[in-house]
Amino acid sequence: MKPGARRLTGTDGVSHTFDPGSFALELILSGGPPPWDRYELLHTPDDAAAWLAESYLAADLPFTADDVRVTKADLARLKEFRALLWHVVPGMIPDAKTLPGITTRQLTPEDRALINATVGEPPLAELDEAGRIRRRTPITMRQVLGAAAQDLIDIIGSDQVARLRMCEGDNCALMFYDTSRPGNRRWCSMQRCGNRHKVGNYRTRHPS
Ligand SMILES: [Zn+2]
Repeated sequence: MKPGARRLTGTDGVSHTFDPGSFALELILSGGPPPWDRYELLHTPDDAAAWLAESYLAADLPFTADDVRVTKADLARLKEFRALLWHVVPGMIPDAKTLPGITTRQLTPEDRALINATVGEPPLAELDEAGRIRRRTPITMRQVLGAAAQDLIDIIGSDQVARLRMCEGDNCALMFYDTSRPGNRRWCSMQRCGNRHKVGNYRTRHPS
């Protein structure tokens, strides 16, 4: 599976692949404020390092969990930035479903200040012994969150904001950045909500 695409298991126990389309949106998948903390994946700094090594950040230039430097304070900063995403991203999606426990808000001056202060030096590349490109390590949380903040700014500060979506599936709150060429992605995944929709349509047309 390519970095960034995640294997998710729903409350029904069925798993499917979900591509959030961007690193910033992917962060939302790592957990969230209550009651979404039941999906928390980042309990320790080591969890965060392992998660990041499978993220969009590792898509072009792979690195391992050992290459990421994460402290407890870093983990707290990551969760603070992630909480901001939970509160502001749904407000940018037309017809977004209400998320239990989440008060959606328009971007406040404080949000803007946090995002702008988070922008930093992205993870850097260098040449390895064979003259091939590789990640310069260690990767710091400042670099990780800097990349997420830049990613978010590029989307929400431009026309690309219109490509933020919430899956149209019933009871599905997965949010993503639509990278499809025509910009018509509707589902978290065809395997899951897309198929349910098709089956639903079929049942409507062919009542038994
Ligand atoms: Zn869905």
